[in-house]
Amino acid sequence: MIYYIFLALLFLYGIIIGSFLNVCIYRIPNRENIVTTRSHCMRCGYQLKWYDLVPIFSWIFLRGRCRQCKEKISVQYPIIEAINGILFVLTFLFCGWELLSVLYCLLASALLVISVIDWRTYQIPFGINVFILVLGLCSLPLSSGAVATHLIGFCAVSGFLLLIYLLTKGKGIGGGDIKLMATAGLLLGWKLIILAFFFGCLYGSVIHLIRMKVSKTGHVLAMGPYLSAGILTAVWFGDRIISWYLTVSGL
Ligand SMILES: [Zn+2]
Repeated sequence: MIYYIFLALLFLYGIIIGSFLNVCIYRIPNRENIVTTRSHCMRCGYQLKWYDLVPIFSWIFLRGRCRQCKEKISVQYPIIEAINGILFVLTFLFCGWELLSVLYCLLASALLVISVIDWRTYQIPFGINVFILVLGLCSLPLSSGAVATHLIGFCAVSGFLLLIYLLTKGKGIGGGDIKLMATAGLLLGWKLIILAFFFGCLYGSVIHLIRMKVSKTGHVLAMGPYLSAGILTAVWFGDRIISWYLTVSGL
């Protein structure tokens, strides 16, 4: 019973942080302040009261419209909130009930913001990479002496990407992607970040090929969402995948 209460609380935390993620997603690309400006309707300027800010429920109760001018409110708000709630629950289910899972939850939230912003603008905000760097530094005392694993993780994939960046004069890969693989590598360690990169490339090539076929999208590829999905795959299942691989290959 208490287990399910914990899961419900986690989901609740997830959707509350999710509503802050919405603020980040809308304001960071416009260089608006994410802390001091009060939430308001984009059309009439109506300042949202606390009861308009209850994650998911306010949107459903208001049927997706502004209380004052009835302007439509994007369905993205409740969707991001719900996704973040689900990410929190799954992260604890897959990674176990430990302190490190808290850092992984925050990483998942940062990746969600990166994915949406990169998808729209082809930019990974520098501030979010700094946030992931801080998570990585916080993980060092928890890594039970294996600090070197994490420091190597910082350069394992990012060093390779930096080489591509230099060789292609910045056309092959974005600077934001390199920083993401560096900061996430510090948090995950070198084994998991290499696995994350492998999955990121796999998702990217498969999904982007399908998208180019179906919707005739251009060749411009935002790597952020795919790398993020790869990182999350490694965080959730990486240890199991690696030990499975070692067993199968007889190493
Ligand atoms: Zn309004």
